[in-house]
Amino acid sequence: MSGVFWLGGMVIAFNTTVPHAAGWLRVRLDIAGLVLLVGALIGGWNFFPKALSGIRKFRLDMNFLMTVAIVGAVLIGEPIEAAAIAALFSFAELLEAAAVVRARRAVEELVRLTPEQASLVRENGVEEAVPTGSLRIGDLVRVRPGEKIPIDGRVMDGESGVDEANVTGESIPVSKVVGDPVYAGTTIVEGYLEIEATTDASDTTIARLVRLVRQAQARRAPIERYVDRFARYYTPTVTALAALTMVVPPLFGLGTGLDWFTRGLALLVIACPCALVIATPVTVVSALTSAARNGVLIKGGEYLEALGATCAMAFDKTGSLTEGRLSVTDVRVVNKASKELVLGLAAAAESRSEHPIARAIVEKARNDQVKELPVTDFEARPGIGVVATVDGLEIRLGTTDLFPDLDLPPALEELESEGKTVVVIGDADKVFGMIALEDTLRPNARAVLGQLRKLGIHEQLMLTGDNEAVARAVASKTDISDVRARLLPHEKVQVVEELKAHHKVVAMLGDGVNDAPALAAATVGIAMGAAGSPATIETADVALMADDLKALPYAVRMAQLTRRLVRFNIASALTLKLLLAVGAVGGVVTLLVAVLVGDMGASILVTLNAMRLAQTRPNMTD
Ligand code: ADP
Ligand code: MG
Repeated sequence: MSGVFWLGGMVIAFNTTVPHAAGWLRVRLDIAGLVLLVGALIGGWNFFPKALSGIRKFRLDMNFLMTVAIVGAVLIGEPIEAAAIAALFSFAELLEAAAVVRARRAVEELVRLTPEQASLVRENGVEEAVPTGSLRIGDLVRVRPGEKIPIDGRVMDGESGVDEANVTGESIPVSKVVGDPVYAGTTIVEGYLEIEATTDASDTTIARLVRLVRQAQARRAPIERYVDRFARYYTPTVTALAALTMVVPPLFGLGTGLDWFTRGLALLVIACPCALVIATPVTVVSALTSAARNGVLIKGGEYLEALGATCAMAFDKTGSLTEGRLSVTDVRVVNKASKELVLGLAAAAESRSEHPIARAIVEKARNDQVKELPVTDFEARPGIGVVATVDGLEIRLGTTDLFPDLDLPPALEELESEGKTVVVIGDADKVFGMIALEDTLRPNARAVLGQLRKLGIHEQLMLTGDNEAVARAVASKTDISDVRARLLPHEKVQVVEELKAHHKVVAMLGDGVNDAPALAAATVGIAMGAAGSPATIETADVALMADDLKALPYAVRMAQLTRRLVRFNIASALTLKLLLAVGAVGGVVTLLVAVLVGDMGASILVTLNAMRLAQTRPNMTD
């Protein structure tokens, strides 16, 4: 509206082509002045009330600047300028608001990924459409080809490819059979699934994701706080400078008071820090949202910044560089124990552990149809192994640390030298045997570490609780130079702290639950395969939803790009304003140019740059 009046007023004012008496023109100019004044008032209404409440709190902000500029322009008889400032600044505000809304709306789209209705199967087998929000743990739902899965759950019947891009960022469909986990918001490509809900509707992975992205957006990045603090001093300073510009030169008889007053007003307009203040939140929110849509959950602008500044990264071995799906390769016995017994005792002791080693041993025992033994007592020793009472016998199972006083069989070294993870089983008095396991290296581990080096992360360190030989085997296959083996969880924390003494920012990649203390100690704790583990999503600073390393260079690239953009935006807005300010004092930059370039221009630049972030994709390689 303000703009319409501004343009209308200008048309009337400049329409002097009608060859009429000077008297007519005068009237026309007065009409023009009135129309322009209305334009200035309408536009100015965005700033006046806020400026008043700001003054009452002794705070000079951009609303104050705008008010002074508009009122000042009217007072010096420049209604065109007054209307222009009011209209253009209102438009700039509108643009900025739209940019923020746009960035936030991208998260709303994530919410809309879950279907509104679900086909619930009642106990009597009757199918019924119910609102997705009413689904509870244990509910059975049916999903047909092309439909979206309404709830996190386990496949009870059927078989299908599922597109999990919405949750993990991975667009190649994953095949699902009975027993496999599925996530709300993912799409069944072909086939048909019956799913038993493993969460309530409010607690699905995607719901958590959206909740956490919203929280992350609400948190302010450190640089944002810095810019705000800067703006608090910047505005009064420039206001003072403008006042000096208006008053001092005329005092010394340099030019007219009106001329300098106009230059001072232009300076005020340029002083508005809006583009500067909006630059960071728009960029950060765009980056967080865009990352979430590509399967990388970043818990806040501060982690985005830290990740972008990282040049040292520690990697856990099991489950991070390797797939963490171990399989038993050898079962050795000593002291006349039988293989059956060793495997049976081990499987029983491990039945309550969630460690990948435990899963492998339990599976091996089941495949070999070893007799199940009863467990009465169980204790997990993180990074070492387990202690359990099986069939009345107190069993120890894990690293050699569990058997400090016993002689260990020579086969141990032989197995370890083959690059295998070896766990020893025994009791307080003697060793019964050993179980050797092998893990598969992630096929892209080496390439990913190379990409990270290209992105400037040169200090790479592998941390593991496993033995030296395995650690070195994995290190040589992945080109990682620095390895620390046989670390207990608290020693991993120490190593991370050591790294932090040398590098300001240290990132650590781990598998969430197991490495939680080390992840917490790092500046940025990154967890993998978070889609499968709600606890991991909550604890990590950055969660890679898919169980795939390739999201890591993407996240780093995104973070670096954001950092660069934020800095570029701030630097260019400042430079632009400085140039304009010099021009304004010199009388070259008019009020109109100041508004058009200094504010609108800067706001548009910032918004366009933020949109570029949304275009970064995980599959891009440098
Ligand atoms: P990583 O650092 O490779 O993730 P962990 O710290 O989880 O490994 O474990 C270190 C070592 O402790 C393992 O290699 C294994 O020898 C032993 N260990 C840990 N947990 C178990 C378990 N549940 N059963 C047997 N051994 C275990
Ligand atoms: Mg681990």
